[in-house]
Amino acid sequence: KAICFEKDSYQALPELTIETQRRAPRVGFKASMDDSDCVQCGNCVQVCPTGALVDSRDKTQGREEVRELAVDATSTVCTYCGVGCRVELHVDKSKNRIMRVSGDEASPVNQGMLCVKGRSGFDFINSPKRLTAPLIRKQGELIPASWEEAIGYIANKLTQVKADHGPQAISALSSAKATNEENFLLQKFIRSVIGTNNIDHCARLCHASTVTALRQTLGSGAMTNDIPSIKASDLIFILGSDTTCAHPIIASHIKQAISDHGARLMVADPKKVGIADSAELYVAQRPGTDVMLLNAIMQQILINGWHKPHYIELRTQGFQALQNELMKEDYSLDNAALITGVSQADIALMARKIGTAKKTAIYYAMGITQHTSGHDNVTAISNLQLLMGNLGVQGAGINPLRGQSNVQGACDMGALYKYYPGYQTVDKPEHQSKFAKAWQKGTQDLSTEHGYSATEMMHAVTKGKLRAMYVMGENPVLSDPDQAHVLEALEQIELLVVQDIFMTETAELAHVVLPAAAFAEKRGHFTNTERRVQQLRIALNPPGEAKADWQIVQMLANAMGAQWDYPNEESIWQEVIEVTPQYQGISWDRLENNINGLQWPCHDESHPGTPILHKDTFMRGIGKLIPVGYRLPAEMPDSEYPLTLSTGRLLEQFHTGTLTRKTPGLDKLASPKVMISVYDAEQLGIGNGDMLKLSTRRGEIEIAAFVTKRAQVGVLFLPFHFAEAAANKLTINALDPVAKIPEFKICAVKAQKVETTELA
Ligand code: SF4
Repeated sequence: KAICFEKDSYQALPELTIETQRRAPRVGFKASMDDSDCVQCGNCVQVCPTGALVDSRDKTQGREEVRELAVDATSTVCTYCGVGCRVELHVDKSKNRIMRVSGDEASPVNQGMLCVKGRSGFDFINSPKRLTAPLIRKQGELIPASWEEAIGYIANKLTQVKADHGPQAISALSSAKATNEENFLLQKFIRSVIGTNNIDHCARLCHASTVTALRQTLGSGAMTNDIPSIKASDLIFILGSDTTCAHPIIASHIKQAISDHGARLMVADPKKVGIADSAELYVAQRPGTDVMLLNAIMQQILINGWHKPHYIELRTQGFQALQNELMKEDYSLDNAALITGVSQADIALMARKIGTAKKTAIYYAMGITQHTSGHDNVTAISNLQLLMGNLGVQGAGINPLRGQSNVQGACDMGALYKYYPGYQTVDKPEHQSKFAKAWQKGTQDLSTEHGYSATEMMHAVTKGKLRAMYVMGENPVLSDPDQAHVLEALEQIELLVVQDIFMTETAELAHVVLPAAAFAEKRGHFTNTERRVQQLRIALNPPGEAKADWQIVQMLANAMGAQWDYPNEESIWQEVIEVTPQYQGISWDRLENNINGLQWPCHDESHPGTPILHKDTFMRGIGKLIPVGYRLPAEMPDSEYPLTLSTGRLLEQFHTGTLTRKTPGLDKLASPKVMISVYDAEQLGIGNGDMLKLSTRRGEIEIAAFVTKRAQVGVLFLPFHFAEAAANKLTINALDPVAKIPEFKICAVKAQKVETTELA
């Protein structure tokens, strides 16, 4: 059954007025696809029974005998979001080019469906802008060099920095786009060859608060339930997630659960996100008031006796302290309504829906985590689900939607400043001994000190504590908050190495740039948002001299005295499963023969994997209820900067645009625009498409306005994909004190109309 995603009007039809946006013309006659409300996922093409719809890139269309001769199909995993859809890449081997992409119908993750990025987003692989040779900066210019010269240069510089300033002066950013094997090797390099725990990756910017909070309350920071059982839900509660844009196939499963399996949907988000159109209740809380909203809901649940005393008694601790917090007058309906902007009746109704549902599944994303109160927000979600006995139950659970294809895997592999692989803390002597033995090092070679988090690294550079940085597949110039500060740091660093597939904004500042292979050019594993470990297969050859990330890291390690001898990805994977308890039963051979993958924990070869966590016992033993109170964001609107700025994603673009902006078909679908409410637009005297200057205490940008009823009054929504209107010139680098995640979702901003001068 083809699922067609409805375009949620953001970015749609810029030439139309707001009144006519929803009455989009139909394709055909004089209207083109771009004029329609079609999101161009192409699922209709895949299931078309007559062959009337075909992918225009595939010139063998309709000629099966030609297609069989010319095109090879390789099953692998989509490189974009954390859903981890299984894709079949149909490749013309003679041209080393993808002709078309289909969704794997046997995959339990996507059941053949793909979103527009998965279907049409891989043209970047053949972009002429791919990096094809190592580059070294000489007299200000990046000049092509041999691998030997580039690796030798980096090894000498890192050795010098280590000798002069110690191992703590060196750090690495690993990659949520690289495989598990590659993340494993980079953290091993930084820990066992350099001798520091200064390694982190972009999970710090998206779900660090999920990891810290859920590890504290449940013992694991991962999504508790699996994608196939979404349909078993009674009530689905989405908070702070633009699911149709950021995790489209999960949105599709949720819509199927509603239409075919009787599930009900409730959505809370400051922006009227597309999935809210499918909800029986939608509320728009003020940004940053999630703890207040959740605590008020829980107060109502307690007052009405809807909580589950037996479950609480049997499986949790800390109920009394939580109850004491929740019953405070602060979380009464009238106070909560005042703070959150959600009516008393709606808060009471939300409590009733959750309190009387058979089971509730909560889905959330960065609208919850990217706050200085992100850790508390996730803790409050955990409290709610523990109160209602919604953990360890099919169709329920706490389901953080991870942003990038292998962000879960990068965390699992220890690309984190305080964990070895498998979340084994670096400061415990038994873990230090275990890894010293596995890596044939002395215990004194492995540091027990926590390293710098990704969000602390730039501060450490400007303070002179960090002198060299190795960046594998990340782009902090666009992805980190407060861009001016990032640029200040990277312009003064002694050694910046960037290993990537394109010349990113960060690579432009590097001393050495190394060309890497893309996902379709390598083998290994990704772990998706539901902990499903899936195998990648090679469909294409990398361009020029580009190499897989693991090969580059091994070359560098050996140039610095390590004696690594990994002949292939299997040999790295064997080491991964030996030292990572959750992965022990996930052997290479099992996954090679099972394209549907296995969900960790999986303790031995006969273990079937774990679709649902915490069934009989929590991973920490007993579930922990932890009271959290409401507190204000770091920077509130004031008379000088009277609006709130929030950042996020669009359906057709991804992260810092490194891939999607090199894919012309996608790039033309979504351009930089700031979402603004009709009321605020009227106050500023602007219309759709007019240019706005946005200013914060950090910087300013100019960007076109998108006036929409979906935006909350007083709140601007700005996508962060675009270098020419970089959202992170504006954002604040205030951090959550526990998770160290930046507050991307709130800062104070001023908007002014840009007066255009008429040309004579
Ligand atoms: Fe790829 Fe995510 Fe789209 Fe699936 S939902 S096709 S994983 S971008």
